[in-house]
Amino acid sequence: MPARSDPTTAHLTEIFSSIQGEGPYVGVRQIFLRFYGCHRRCVFCDSPETVTAWQPPGYQPASCRVEWTPGRRDFRALDNPFSLEGLVALLRDFNTRAGPHHSVALTGGEPLLQPEFLSALLPHINQLGMKTYLETAGDLYPQLEHLLPWLDIAAMDIKLPSVTQNEAAWGSHRKFLARCVENEVEIFAKAIVSAETDPADLDAACAVLRETAPNTLLILQPMTPFGDASNAPRPEQLLDWQAQCLAHLPNIRVIPQTHRFINQL
Ligand code: SF4
Repeated sequence: MPARSDPTTAHLTEIFSSIQGEGPYVGVRQIFLRFYGCHRRCVFCDSPETVTAWQPPGYQPASCRVEWTPGRRDFRALDNPFSLEGLVALLRDFNTRAGPHHSVALTGGEPLLQPEFLSALLPHINQLGMKTYLETAGDLYPQLEHLLPWLDIAAMDIKLPSVTQNEAAWGSHRKFLARCVENEVEIFAKAIVSAETDPADLDAACAVLRETAPNTLLILQPMTPFGDASNAPRPEQLLDWQAQCLAHLPNIRVIPQTHRFINQL
C-alpha cells in the first residue's frame, strides 16, 4: 500500500481516551488515534479492519468510531476523511473535558502510511501540551523522517516471522531504530511472542538491537488470543526466551497487554 501524500486530510477508524495497556508506559492516560491502513498482515492482528490487504481494493472507511465519553461505549460515527483543523479541534476538546492526557498515541494500522498528515499534526499535539507517542511496525524508516522533529516516543515492533507468518524486516528495523537514536527519540522495542516462536528469530531481533542501540528496552509481549490466533506462549517458554535474550542484551522485560484485563479499549 503506498503512503498517502496528503498533508491536510487523514482516514481514521477509531478515536478514544483510555490508558496505555502495553510496555513501559502502561497505565498513563492517552488519546488514541487509530489510523486506517496497514501494509503488513500479522496473524495475531487485533485491528484487522485497518489492514489494507484484508479489505476490498480501493477501500477507505467512510466513518470513524469515536467513544465520546471515556469508558462509556457511547460511540459516535464521524465522517472520514478528517481535516487537520477538525482533528486538532477534537483533540483539544478531548483533552479539555477528559484530560489531562500524557500523550496522543498514534496507532493503527500503520500510522506511517499517512506521514505528511502526521508531520502537520504532531506540532499541534505538542502545542496542546501532550507528547507524541507512535505505535508502529518499525519498518517504514523513509516515512519516519517526516515525524522526527516532533516525535517524543516510538513504540516500535520487531516482527518475528515465526509469529507474524509474514516476511522478516530485520534490515528495515535496524534503519528505523538507528534514525530514532540519531534524533534522540525515546524508543523501545516490542516483539509479540506465541507458542510457535522460533528462538532463532529472537536471536535475530537481539542482533538488530545489539548492533544499533544495545541499551534499548526489548519487551517480549505474550500474544493475547484474538480471532484465529490462539496459541499464547506457555509460562516456561516466556522465561526461557527472556533468559535467552538477556544473554545478548541487558534490558529485556516480559509484559502482557494489560488493558484487556480490565476491559478497556
Ligand atoms: S503491523 Fe499491526 S496493524 Fe498491521 S497487521 Fe500487524 S498487528 Fe495488525
